[in-house]
Amino acid sequence: MLRAWLGLGRCWECGTMLLANEVAGTCPGCRLAWPVLPPGAGSQALGQMRAGALPWALGFRLCAERGTSQVLHRMKYGGLIDPAQRLGRWMSAAWPSPPPDTVLVPVPSHWRRRLRRGFNPSESLACGLACNWGLAVEPSLLVRAAHRRSLTGSSRVERMRVLEACYVGMPTPNARRVVVVDDVLTTGATYRTCAQALEAEGHTCIGGVWLAMA
Ligand SMILES: [Zn+2]
Repeated sequence: MLRAWLGLGRCWECGTMLLANEVAGTCPGCRLAWPVLPPGAGSQALGQMRAGALPWALGFRLCAERGTSQVLHRMKYGGLIDPAQRLGRWMSAAWPSPPPDTVLVPVPSHWRRRLRRGFNPSESLACGLACNWGLAVEPSLLVRAAHRRSLTGSSRVERMRVLEACYVGMPTPNARRVVVVDDVLTTGATYRTCAQALEAEGHTCIGGVWLAMA
């Protein structure tokens, strides 16, 4: 009971008993199988290609056979804040910190999802990163406007338009230097629309952090 409450337990993959500092329910042995994206030229090229942005930290590629799809799923739908924070700390241990006055801005989740899950996984990731990097998390710089239109069935152009309407940057007395934090990088459309919304309010977006590459 206490172990469960502390977030301890057994490795989801192999059942080994976990220690207090283990990452997202995965023992070090199973973590060796993760297709990790380390700092370096390859990861930078990947960020540029997908989002047109500098990656300040990446986690792993999504791969069901190597366990990372399951890790992402548990982080998003497991209902616990802790795995996301630990994954944030795990990433920031390998990647050098952005410049000292940078703030981390998580991509806001849809309010329905937030209500259902009780938290925004990207914000928890950002808290884990901020803790090691000594930076602030500023979720209030970016809000998600309500929209009722379904994305399915629309053309790509229409989808872009709906996404653009989704995020609104918030002005602050002093414009901030921002790194956007998101859980998954697929097409980079979310990053681009968030960066545009922040830059429309005078902030400078210097890149992003993504836990997983789809
Ligand atoms: Zn294991």
